[in-house]
Amino acid sequence: MGLLDNVKAAAAGVTQKVSGNVDLMGINSQINAAEKEINELFLKLGAAYFEAHKNDPDDALKDQMAVLVEKEKALADLRNAAQTKKAETAAVSFAPPPTPAQSVGQSGAAPAAAGVTCPHCGAPNQPGKFCARCGKAVAGA
Ligand SMILES: [Zn+2]
Repeated sequence: MGLLDNVKAAAAGVTQKVSGNVDLMGINSQINAAEKEINELFLKLGAAYFEAHKNDPDDALKDQMAVLVEKEKALADLRNAAQTKKAETAAVSFAPPPTPAQSVGQSGAAPAAAGVTCPHCGAPNQPGKFCARCGKAVAGA
């Protein structure tokens, strides 16, 4: 057997091993799928049994049923709390920001309210007691 034959043989061995692993992986994934399916069926069976018998549980299952009833109540409370939080958060984040028109109106209205128009010379927005332009007393200030 030459070197090349050894390499070929080794390669064939690797190939065989890989395909063997693929087979095993296929079987394992089928096992996983079957387990998942069975778990879901158990879940449905349990839920169906619980719904049918939650008001008249068998003695053997009474304790487990009671725990489940409590857990369902706790879950309902948590869901209500989550709803409340959600509503609060939504109310805060959706509080409308001031519109550009409101902002302009506010910043424009503030100086006008601070001063009055001088009755003597007509200079607008005089903030003090005397007109900054003509020096006479400003009415109302
Ligand atoms: Zn004036």
